Amino acid sequence: MTEFTPVDSEGQQPTNTTCPDSNHPHKIDLGLPSGTKWACCNVDASKPEDYGGYYAWGETYTKDVYNEASYQYYNNGNYQNIGSSICGTNYDVAHMKWGGAWRMPSLEQIQELMEYCSYTWSSVNGINVGKFTSRKNSGSIILPAVGSWNRSSGLSGRGSNGYYWSGTQDPYADRFAYGLGFGSGHASYNDGHLIRISGFAIRPVQGDVDTRMSSVIPDSIRPIIEEYIPIYDGKNPPNIEGSYFLSPQVLIGSSLSNDEIGKVYASEYQKYSSQDMNKNTIDLVGVEESKDGLSVSKGTGAYISGSNNNFTIYFDMESENSYSTSKLVYIVSGTKTSTGIRNLTCGFIMKEKYDPQNKLVPVGTFRFFKDQDGMSEAVSWPYGNTYGIRKRNVKSRVLPFILAR
Ligand SMILES: [Zn+2]
Repeated sequence: MTEFTPVDSEGQQPTNTTCPDSNHPHKIDLGLPSGTKWACCNVDASKPEDYGGYYAWGETYTKDVYNEASYQYYNNGNYQNIGSSICGTNYDVAHMKWGGAWRMPSLEQIQELMEYCSYTWSSVNGINVGKFTSRKNSGSIILPAVGSWNRSSGLSGRGSNGYYWSGTQDPYADRFAYGLGFGSGHASYNDGHLIRISGFAIRPVQGDVDTRMSSVIPDSIRPIIEEYIPIYDGKNPPNIEGSYFLSPQVLIGSSLSNDEIGKVYASEYQKYSSQDMNKNTIDLVGVEESKDGLSVSKGTGAYISGSNNNFTIYFDMESENSYSTSKLVYIVSGTKTSTGIRNLTCGFIMKEKYDPQNKLVPVGTFRFFKDQDGMSEAVSWPYGNTYGIRKRNVKSRVLPFILAR
């Protein structure tokens, strides 16, 4: 079954449920809940059953040898951390070669493909392929059995299996990333530990991209941000209303050379409320607890994007006290679970300030933090309705994390 729709919601090329003609690449709509569309063919391929190019993870060029020595992000025995997610960054070959909203799939997008599609081993014009057919709308894509390049045996397995990269780094080991592997009768994500030097194929996707982020965070600095904090696009974020305890927050990234990565900052209670599931907006109150006392920040109508259990919140924030005013972009990303938010990372970029005593970080500074133990537990809000902390005689304080030292 092939369906033609004249123009998609982004006003770009039409979306189809199977590849309709020779004008590749096409966006294929598999009816996936996140809104993700999969390309009909690989990077460097001229038709769906073409193998296309083979890329080491994070590289944007093909080559003849795929080993540590030839890998751009391997130095002195170490794999360079180029970010927990390279989707949409300058390390993303789909994004760099195809442009626009095309990008490498995230692990979540590969998991979603496998969850909502049935897998069969098939053949197209004499080429063995894995075929994914949607249980949602019967749409389908084929992925040729490209094999893979590895350090010892060069190109192997072509015709009998296929390996495709995701843009998601293995959080437990720098040398691995996640991908999709399949062969006759089997398909899985993260087929064993996939070592980043391997040459795999790339099948691009387009998320249901939430373009509101561009109004808050300039596209030019998004790649910098994404080295520290995953940005979850998509228009189906989870409902995260509730209160959470970040205890403590530690610094994981900074533009200031004097900052000490790993430094423990304040603990913080965050309360999310009034999430509008149609407009994708949410309100946030944060109360930071440090040895100097409490400080309060508040944002209303913040934007929330994401899909499945992953979300990103971003908004313009203003901070004010007796000696300064400032405007920041504040970002929070994480994964909603039954007990709280996993891998909560947050941070800010200083946009403007009035700061005659020069106590705040310079304009352009960013700092990113995470909850030290990786789990921000759901808790009951300790401060009563709204803030309720006036009882505790809180003075107006500047947020501790924007102080210069
Ligand atoms: Zn096509």
